[in-house]
Parts: sequence; structure tokens; C-alpha cells
Amino acid sequence: MLKIGTALCCLALLSSAVRAADSPAPDPHLVWDLTQLYPTDAAWEAEQKSIAAAIPGLAGLKGTLGKDAAGLEKAMRAMSDIRKRLGRLDTYASLKRDEDTRNAANQDRLQRAQLLETDALTAIAWVDPEIIAIGAAKIDQFIAADPALKPFAFSLHDKLRQAPHTLGSEAEGVLAAGGQVRGAPQTIYTLLANADLPWPTVTLSDGRKVKLDSQGFTATRDLPNRDDRRQVFDTFFGKWAEYKNSFGATLGGGIQGTIFEAKARHYPNSLAYAISNHNIPEAVYRSLVDEANKGLPSLYRYFNLRKKMLGLAEIHYYDMYVPLVKSDKTYTVDDAKRMTLTAVAPLGPDYVKMLSDGFSASWMHALPQPGKKPGAYMNPGAYDVHPYVLANFTGNYDSVSTIAHEWGHAMHSVLAAKAQPYETANYPIFLAEIASTTNEMLLQDNLIANAKTKEDKLFFLNQAVETIRTTFFRQTMFAEFEMKAHEAGERNEALTGDALTKIYLDLLKHYYGDAQGVVKIDDLYGMEWAYIPHFYNDFYVYQYATSLSAAAYFSHAIAAGDTKVRDTYLDVLKSGGSDYPYDILKKAGLDMASPAPYQAIVARLNMLLDQMEALTK
Ligand SMILES: [Zn+2]
Repeated sequence: MLKIGTALCCLALLSSAVRAADSPAPDPHLVWDLTQLYPTDAAWEAEQKSIAAAIPGLAGLKGTLGKDAAGLEKAMRAMSDIRKRLGRLDTYASLKRDEDTRNAANQDRLQRAQLLETDALTAIAWVDPEIIAIGAAKIDQFIAADPALKPFAFSLHDKLRQAPHTLGSEAEGVLAAGGQVRGAPQTIYTLLANADLPWPTVTLSDGRKVKLDSQGFTATRDLPNRDDRRQVFDTFFGKWAEYKNSFGATLGGGIQGTIFEAKARHYPNSLAYAISNHNIPEAVYRSLVDEANKGLPSLYRYFNLRKKMLGLAEIHYYDMYVPLVKSDKTYTVDDAKRMTLTAVAPLGPDYVKMLSDGFSASWMHALPQPGKKPGAYMNPGAYDVHPYVLANFTGNYDSVSTIAHEWGHAMHSVLAAKAQPYETANYPIFLAEIASTTNEMLLQDNLIANAKTKEDKLFFLNQAVETIRTTFFRQTMFAEFEMKAHEAGERNEALTGDALTKIYLDLLKHYYGDAQGVVKIDDLYGMEWAYIPHFYNDFYVYQYATSLSAAAYFSHAIAAGDTKVRDTYLDVLKSGGSDYPYDILKKAGLDMASPAPYQAIVARLNMLLDQMEALTK
């Protein structure tokens, strides 16, 4: 319940290799100002000590929650205030660490912030069972009697919602004690995949030798020489295949653990359990999978165009990443800011002004530097201050798109913080990726509409199509794989490497139209499941696909000048975490369990393909 210091990063950057940089000392306008959090390291230390001294007091609140409304309010307020202070403390420590991950003092500071968070969690472990024991009738009576309890009403009701799935104290103790064992499959996977596996080295046609670990694979899977990329794919997935049985046991063990917990907590199945956290109906997941399957002919249409543009008689899975159109255009951070501001104009002058103000303040660490954390994220942890953005801007189109994306997250946090008290400002990932990808789409559409040459237009169109292939179809294929693998486990079928490969290969062939002669899927690539680390975070990636679909639904109406949809969309952002994400969207007129959002993303794909086909006739 006490989740602190969550940073949102975009999907594309989770796996992308980041270029090493040896740039000189960065421009102060491109660096964040952390003195807005604490003027000095010493001030941070003083706050750390002050919070540490306050935490033991939380344990003393045990047994006071059910006495009267004033007692409940006092306890909730005390816990919330510490959580808010910890959020700010953690933000400073983690931003500082990410500026230079090699710095031992930075690592130490972050570790101490995290230890304090663990202490706080331990000190309030009794809260949820106590609230459930008090019961809904009394809690509702307290909320009605004391307006100061209003900011806490949602989280109190959410704890009560979990009552049917909360066990007796003995059983909860057994489950908690087993937590470390439950985490073992992921730990083993991470060690195997990142440290122990002897990655092969390939020699490319230009004589270059590349070590094919995950980073080497992402850096070479799009090579223009077809023999090179085939060799890269075959060698990389061939290595995973050598360990098929071990990875099968590892992922199978993780899935079995989730199935066990779902049963122990009286959920009908592991899917319902995994997505119950934010009260997402199972129908959302199932509609996504159904509608993505119905949309496959549009994806095949893209692959056939890809085949034509590459001039190949037959395309294979290793032809998926090679760019159809190249662009050697480079941009500065200022270009990216200007382009984003122009693109988000349909969101209205208030939004544009707010973004412009954020760009002018020192909220972002924009450029790569030695030791800096790779990738990009937005950190909303300091509610009283403002969000911070980390980027590794290299000047290509991806970098520009990342600015639009991360600042979409940042504006979401600014709007939520303005409209909501601390307690209901934080929003879950199910909503978060809508705010970021809506801005990405507005940027794409603006660049497509205003491209000066045919090559530019084709480039931006292809980027937009690739977003849909990788974020909507690929993530839904992952989601369907997770669903099928868990269902097999629930039928007591063995989850071996062979069994998981069969499930994955069937899906891969289906999504890429192997039987229809669209993309030829070689059997070896059925091993790809072992390469995807997200499968150890059950039923998570589907949210990337649902978010992109919702973004298509909103951004098309907004770009077309529908101010009513624009205002309801902004209301979604302002709602923060004041309700369940499914309900917030439903209030805005978008039912994520219905086909509408998924039909919107498929319609967008067809609209983009119409333009690409017209330009390549
Ligand atoms: Zn994101």
C-alpha cells in the first residue's frame, strides 16, 4: 500500500540500448535543479533523521483506528504525512543516484531512503487487517461524521474491498513468510539472463564482432544486411534455446506461484487475481485480446507493405526491425520542446502554457553523461514540489518522441497534484501511459501533416505504424501468451520449456500470418518468450496496449477539435488516483471493456497505411 518513489518509464526505453556519451559538462539549462527538493545534502540528512525519529510513533497508533472518527483521522493523517515526506526524500536520493550511478555516496543515500521506507511499511503492517476488522459500516459512519476523512475515503474503501481475499492472521503470516520463495524464479531468471549465460559473439559482414547479449541484440537486429540480421536472430535465440528446459522451469515456477496465491486468496483464476490490484475487470483484458485478434488483417496489411517496400519475395521474423525509411535528421532539446508545444496545441492554451512553464523551469536532466542511468522516466514522487524528468537525448527522432512522452507523464502529475490532495493524486500505470502516448500521437500526427518531403512523411508515418505494431499488437500477443500459459497451469498441465515454446510459437505464427503467407516464422523463434523479462511480472504488459488504444480514441477526437472530448480527457488527468482507473475512464465516456478503444487503434493503423500505400504506389 505504501508505494513510494515510483518512476514511470516508457516501454520503448525499457529495452533500448543507450549510446555511450563522452559529452563535456552539461549546459545548466539542460540539468534539473534538485535544490528545490533540499537546498543541500545536509538538509536531506536532517530530514532523513527527522523521519526516522517519527516512524516508531506509527506503531503506537495500533488499536486506535476503530475508537472514533477523530482517532481514525489522526492515524490516517500521520501515516499519510510520513509517506509524503518519504516520497520527497526518496525522489532526491534516486535522482541524485541516477545522475551518476557510480558514485558511492549517491548509492548509500538511496539505500538509506529505501531502508526507511521498509521501516515505515513494517511499522504499519497492522493497518489493513485492523480496518477490515472495524468493518465497512463503522468506517462509513466515521467518514460521514468527519469531513477531514474525505481524502482517505477512497483508500479506506479499497482496503475493505480486499476483505474477502484477506485471510486469517495465521494464513497471512504463512503467505508473507513465503514471499521470498515466491520471488525466487525471477531472481534466478535475472541472474541467468544477465550474468551467467555465456553470450555468443558473431562476426558481421563488415568484419565487426558483436557480443550478442540483450543489448547487442537490440543494437544489431535491424542491420541493413539481411544475412547479418538473420545470423543475429539465429545465434541469439539459438542460445536461449540451449537453456530451454531451465528457462521453462523458471517461468513455469513463477506462473505456478501466482496460481497458488490466486487460489489461496479465493480468486476465480490467476488473471482475475493479478489485475484485481486496481480493480480492473477481467472483461478489459479479454476484450483487448479479442479485438487485437480481429484487427490482425490490418497488421498483415502492414507486413505486406513492408515486404513490398523491402523488395523481398518473402519476409521473415528477422526482417521486422530493419527500417523502411531512414532519416538522418537531428534535433536539439529546444527543437524537441518546440515541436512538442506545437503538437499539443489541440489540448488547449492552459495545457500549452503549463507545459511551456515546465520546459522553462529546471525539471529535466536531458543529456547523456558518463555514469548516468540509461533510458528515460518521469518521477512524480515530490508532491509538494513538481515532477522531474530524466532523458538521454541523442538528437534522433526517438529522442524527440521521448520528450513528448515523458512530459505527457509530467503534465499528468502537475494536473493531478493541482486538483487532488496528496492522498488521491497518485495514478496507476493503467492511466499513466494514456497521458504519455496521447502526446506522442499528437506529435506523430503533427509531423505527418506538416512533413515537407515525401521521404519525411513516409518516415513519420512508419514510426507511427511501428508504435502500433510494437505497443499494441506485440504487447497484446505477450498478454495472450500469459493468459494461455496461466490457463494451462490452471488445468494442471506441465509448464515445461517445450510446452511454453509451443504456446508462444502458435501465437507468433498467428499474429504474423504465417499460415496466410504474410511473414514466415521459423520454429526457432518460438523461444522468444524466454527473452521477455516482463513475464515475471504477471499480467502487466497488457496495460501498454490498453493505454495506446485509449490514446488513439482520445487523440483523434481532440485533434479533430472535439472540445467536449478534450475536456473529459483533461478531467481524466485531473482525477489522479481519486477512483479506480477503469471507472475514471468510464466516466469520461470510454469503456475499456468494450471494443471501442481497440477499434480506434486499428482504425488509426488503417488510416496511416492508407497514406503510406498512397505514397509508395
Ligand atoms: Zn511512459
